[in-house]
Amino acid sequence: DESYRRIEEVDDQIKAFLTLNKEEALKQADEFDRDGAQSGNGALFGMPVGLKDNIVTKGLRTTCASKILDNFNDPLYDATVVQKLKEAKAITIGKLNMDEFAMGSSNENSGYMATRNPWNTDYVPGGSSGGSAAAVASREVFFALGSDTGGSIRQPAAFCGVVGMKPTYGLVSRFGLVAFASSLDQIGPITRTVEDNARLLEVIAGHDHMDSTSANVEVPAYSEHLEKDMKGLKIAVPKEYLGEGVSEEVREAVRKALKVYESLGAEWEEVSLPHSKYAVATYYLIASSEASANLARFDGVRYGVRSEKAENMIDMFKLSRSEGFGDEVKRRIMLGTFALSSGYYDAYYKKAQKVRTLIKQDFENVFEDYDVIIGPTTPTPAFKVGEKIDDPLTMYANDILTIPVNLAGVPGISVPCGFSSEGLPIGLQIIGRHFDEQTVYQTAYAFE
Ligand code: GLN
Repeated sequence: DESYRRIEEVDDQIKAFLTLNKEEALKQADEFDRDGAQSGNGALFGMPVGLKDNIVTKGLRTTCASKILDNFNDPLYDATVVQKLKEAKAITIGKLNMDEFAMGSSNENSGYMATRNPWNTDYVPGGSSGGSAAAVASREVFFALGSDTGGSIRQPAAFCGVVGMKPTYGLVSRFGLVAFASSLDQIGPITRTVEDNARLLEVIAGHDHMDSTSANVEVPAYSEHLEKDMKGLKIAVPKEYLGEGVSEEVREAVRKALKVYESLGAEWEEVSLPHSKYAVATYYLIASSEASANLARFDGVRYGVRSEKAENMIDMFKLSRSEGFGDEVKRRIMLGTFALSSGYYDAYYKKAQKVRTLIKQDFENVFEDYDVIIGPTTPTPAFKVGEKIDDPLTMYANDILTIPVNLAGVPGISVPCGFSSEGLPIGLQIIGRHFDEQTVYQTAYAFE
């Protein structure tokens, strides 16, 4: 009830929600109120949660913020994470805005509306999980799930001053996450505190036979092992992460954070991730290639909207896709199709895969000697609505510090670490070894 009251109060301005689940959610809340004692054994009992709209929800509209799925009102199944939330007795409040098919860094690529930054509505909330981060920051929901392919959980978390975790690739099932780039996509939690974040990940993580890339690993009770002591922790600070292109305010906030770690007993040293500079180019080849294959299924036949204008089958495919997809999605499909086409495959796609391996090795080298890597989440705080939308390349460059983490498959979190002179939040990024979410959470918790 309280969530919906808050949504009524602020969502006109924030524009975080695409679809509300009000009737169902209130019914569930009533049930929980009535027989609380018997049903009160869920880890998230009665907690209001919002879901990014690329996470499939049975019977609840799922659009990926794309017009091509405008009428996808009645999906037949729940994503594995949604099932797990239901088992934990969380209550789904609604579906959250995003960049169309998770392609973007500002929420301006949504086919419906641009979500605003709750700290200042002239600014973007980040993306693509901007609706998720804005809903948590504006207290419309207690926590939300987002997805992160190149930074889409951590960047909006940084811009909105909340905590966002991209888990190790394979830790959280992707079953029921509408695929963008399958070798990079991960679902993760966005919350107000590190402890809540750890709790939520405990619920959604774990092996799932419905996702062939799901890892068969034990999920520790992260939230039960959070302490402030940082003695002996070895922190690596990549010089590429504090270099040119990162604003002085952001650098200063990170330096201050490192002082806090020193005072808690940790040690830090500068290191290098030499192949980081190729990360954005590598990412856009790999992610777009995978997207061009994944998005082939939206043809006006299987799901979603079909063009009314077509006279024959081929026109029907063409028109449905032309009318249904937005500009950014089309751009990626064209880039990906080109990179995968014969004659160019070796030069672009294959080369990108090789560079991806080098980027991954950079991280492995550093993690031989250090426990975590720390730097900023983004080069600057949130930018203004409209500022970058006409220039895709500057928009892409904004993800330079988050993308390498996806290419390497390691976990990364963004936690608030101060404000800019304009009063916008700045995010600190903490990156860990594969499946070492525990150390990442521990390090984030000590700072918080
Ligand atoms: N901004 C990046 C992109 O547009 C990352 C998106 C994401 O992580 N889903 O691809």
